[in-house]
Amino acid sequence: MTLDINAIRLDFPILQQKVYGRPLVYFDNAATTQKPESVIKAISNYYEQQNSNIHRGVHYLSQVATEAYENARIQIQRFINAKNRHEIIFTRGTTESINLVAYSFGKQFIKPGNVILLSELEHHSNIVPWQFLREERGAVIKVIPILDNGEIDLESYKKLLDKSVKIVSIAHVSNALGTILPIKEMIDLAHEHDIPVMIDGAQAIAHTRIDVQALDADFYCFSGHKMYGPMGIGVLFGKEKWLEAMPPYQGGGEMIDTVSFEKTAYNELPFKFEAGTPNVCDTLGLSAALDYLELHNMDAIAAYEHELLNYATNKIQTIGGLKIIGTAREKAGVLSFLPDGIHPYDMGTILDKLGIALRTGNHCAQPLMDRLGISGTVRTSFAMYNTKEEIDTLADAIVRVKEMFL
Ligand code: PMP
Repeated sequence: MTLDINAIRLDFPILQQKVYGRPLVYFDNAATTQKPESVIKAISNYYEQQNSNIHRGVHYLSQVATEAYENARIQIQRFINAKNRHEIIFTRGTTESINLVAYSFGKQFIKPGNVILLSELEHHSNIVPWQFLREERGAVIKVIPILDNGEIDLESYKKLLDKSVKIVSIAHVSNALGTILPIKEMIDLAHEHDIPVMIDGAQAIAHTRIDVQALDADFYCFSGHKMYGPMGIGVLFGKEKWLEAMPPYQGGGEMIDTVSFEKTAYNELPFKFEAGTPNVCDTLGLSAALDYLELHNMDAIAAYEHELLNYATNKIQTIGGLKIIGTAREKAGVLSFLPDGIHPYDMGTILDKLGIALRTGNHCAQPLMDRLGISGTVRTSFAMYNTKEEIDTLADAIVRVKEMFL
């Protein structure tokens, strides 16, 4: 199956606009993806046709909204092939999902001196929640090193796995370098020591097919807005056995069974972890985004983005004076580079004026930048609506910026 990119582009209203009089070239997809018309419609349709509070209502609208919300849960369960629908918890996004696990798993299972294993290429949101836990519990954070090309140092990882480690939490794909981590192998190695593994799938979910059962992941999380869905909605998948054993993250309505001032009994999964009125509207937007991804086929999307990455990598290499940062053998559609003699921020600012949206800086991965001995990169990140012509436009624009500076 090949993608009809021209037709896909027409589905995204925002891509039709010009910025500074030039057609928008949007290469900041790792930060957030644009939304197809169907997602935007699902959101407005919710407020026009379905808006109601869910689960408790006896009236028609409440039943419609409840059914739509719970159907979205089932759709996500299928999308990532989770065994049970109650293993799907709706959150605000990857950040909240990681905070939930760090807090709740931590409260139940982490004792002073226990080790939490992270990698050197994590996003801040897969570092800071674990630091909270370290302060709270007297735990220890150990870091799996990376190799110079941005791959995980698997030999060091194996040596770090011992019975003091109580959880491993790692990215599936690095947002700064594009490295695809060998998570299946890493999960299997951790499981040999009975250590559960949490995967931050923020940068993987829109770019490759995820099967949490085949991976045997204990936790897997992602954000709607990085997969063509709305902001403010995300998912935490957790194996039933862990979620059952973990205490609630927040208290309030929905997550309770019975309440008295003396004692409260918690609701069953998944509601135990969904306190308060949920974000029904954006859940339905996310559901529309899944429809969109499924319509275009995850394997076709992954193959096309890989083609874009290879094309862009060759282009950047032929320009000269640009050092690619992150040359792992397995990469997803992220290309980071460092221009000789030009600050990434200056390059990004001028590219913006030429209509090209990309990201410069440390990409919320300061420890990784420290490890690489740089302060930041220029990062292009691709989505299914990007084209080789846009990469040509970028290459021409980079040449212009170089001529201005050098
Ligand atoms: N992890 C990774 C790898 C990311 O790229 C991001 C977003 N840049 C996050 C976590 C945080 O995602 P969110 O801000 O949507 O919670």
